Amino acid sequence: MGQQYDWLAELLDLPNVRVIHFQLVGSQRLNVVVESISEAALCPRCQQPSLIVHDQGDAQLIRDLPIWKRRCWLSYRPRRFDCVTCDNTFVERVAWREPGLDYTVRYEHALYEKVRRESVAQVAQDERLSEDIVQGIFERWAKKRSPNAAILV
Ligand SMILES: [Zn+2]
Repeated sequence: MGQQYDWLAELLDLPNVRVIHFQLVGSQRLNVVVESISEAALCPRCQQPSLIVHDQGDAQLIRDLPIWKRRCWLSYRPRRFDCVTCDNTFVERVAWREPGLDYTVRYEHALYEKVRRESVAQVAQDERLSEDIVQGIFERWAKKRSPNAAILV
């Protein structure tokens, strides 16, 4: 795979991510197809690194920060690794997104900061998300950031 989108990966600035393709959708949306390029992944069961990619899952759309006022989604296919140490297959974890969530960590963080300054209703409208989703993200981050959580971290 060529390096033709290295410049976009540099702008995107996510660790261990390569950009394969991008697509402008209408005038307000950008989809960026990315893949993880970490050489190894840590097996969650035995904590040993694995270098053997088993397969890739279906593409998932993950909302990220806007780029030049375009709403931005990453299209990402999580890789599954084989662990030879404990004969396990597992899905790679990436630093920029918590497993199973439809948003990047930095997008959620930005949303949280925005709700603190504005309101759930306003942010939901601006981001074209439901108020339930914005409220859910806000509460999760508020919990993370509470003094008790800070001590644990
Ligand atoms: Zn293992």
